Amino acid sequence: MRVLVIEDEPRLAENVARSLRESAGYAVDVAHDGQEGLFMAESNDYDAVLLDLMLPQMGGLQLLRRMRHAGQRAPVLVVTVRDEKESVVALLNAGADDYLTKPFDLGELLARTKALIRRGKGHPSPVLVVGDLELNTVDRSVRRGGRPISLTAMEYRVLEYLAHRPKAVVSKTELLEHLYDYNWEKFSNVIEVYISGLRRKLDDGSTHQLIHTLRGQGYILQD
Ligand code: CA
Repeated sequence: MRVLVIEDEPRLAENVARSLRESAGYAVDVAHDGQEGLFMAESNDYDAVLLDLMLPQMGGLQLLRRMRHAGQRAPVLVVTVRDEKESVVALLNAGADDYLTKPFDLGELLARTKALIRRGKGHPSPVLVVGDLELNTVDRSVRRGGRPISLTAMEYRVLEYLAHRPKAVVSKTELLEHLYDYNWEKFSNVIEVYISGLRRKLDDGSTHQLIHTLRGQGYILQD
């Protein structure tokens, strides 16, 4: 998953980005003002956007309206300074999906972000099930047929993305764009390595494979 953090306080932006990277395993891009944030939100396909309300160059409300007007569908979690009823109503009416008031607990921010991503992809439950595969997005554990499977951090991230889009053909480029930050093109050769590692671990002891390759198109996770 790839998340955009639009926050002008450098230390807070860094803490939030680190927490999303380390505790959730997300790729994170950071924008420090409204214009940069809008540009990045419109140039990339993010799985969620964390948007500070008070920003230099362009405020969060205007940014959100322009994002939605441009057809950007990424779920947006807005961070406000105070619990101002009017601005919260305006934000939700402008297309925000959730909001959080500063100062906030990083654990709550993480849980809300995960919930937004799941719902944005049509999965209200934190446990994703594909055939006999179970992927728990809260503790990042994976089981197949009840057997626990130990994955590397990157293998988990690849599988989590595929499990959010079961039965869909996911191209290598789509995987790269959602697993890495703006540097993603540097990593274009590693996806095959993660897929083959995943296959080896997931299919060990099973009669059928879960990850299928469509040559020249991408990968499908299905039973
Ligand atoms: Ca601010």
